[in-house]
Amino acid sequence: MDPVAFHARVLAHADADGRLPRPPEIPTVEIFPYETGGLRTVPVAPLVLPEPARHGEDAASCGCGNGLPAKAFWADDAWFLSPLPDLGLPGVMLNARAHVDLEDLDDALAADLGVLTVRISRALMGLGGIGRVHVYRWGDGSAHLHVWFFARPAGFLQLRGSSLADWSELLPPMPAAELADLRGAVARELATWRGEVRR
Ligand SMILES: [Zn+2]
Repeated sequence: MDPVAFHARVLAHADADGRLPRPPEIPTVEIFPYETGGLRTVPVAPLVLPEPARHGEDAASCGCGNGLPAKAFWADDAWFLSPLPDLGLPGVMLNARAHVDLEDLDDALAADLGVLTVRISRALMGLGGIGRVHVYRWGDGSAHLHVWFFARPAGFLQLRGSSLADWSELLPPMPAAELADLRGAVARELATWRGEVRR
């Protein structure tokens, strides 16, 4: 992969302002949270290499060496669950306890991640009223491995798919008691497999 060639190819496809052509119809308009009438594409920004450091690139600045955070509501020796930031959506966040990113996981931790992904998704679906569980690992903001699990409420079809993160900027906060119930249910379900409910 040559990022310079990739970027040059994209720019060659853009107009004089560096804007990519807008398709006649936006394929994701059904799930896009904004009206698209006046929408135009942004100019393609210059390549930034090397990339700027993310939050917590090294263990000291990450803060993960200070032990299990108080917000953890389930944990075993290698993983813990924490609340999602307040994004107006039900869900949980899975975190590694060691200072690792996805590519640092050995085979045993990678296998854990597979089992945890399935079990957390199943526990969230088991709450009822959930249409789908969305699993995201971006890692562009914070270096320490964290995986997002969003439980999309059933029937709210605009929240399907890749625009959910954009919707999360708009949704009102979830009731705290409802989120606490959700976290308790997921923690108890995981604890039937491994680890323990923390609070
Ligand atoms: Zn860390």
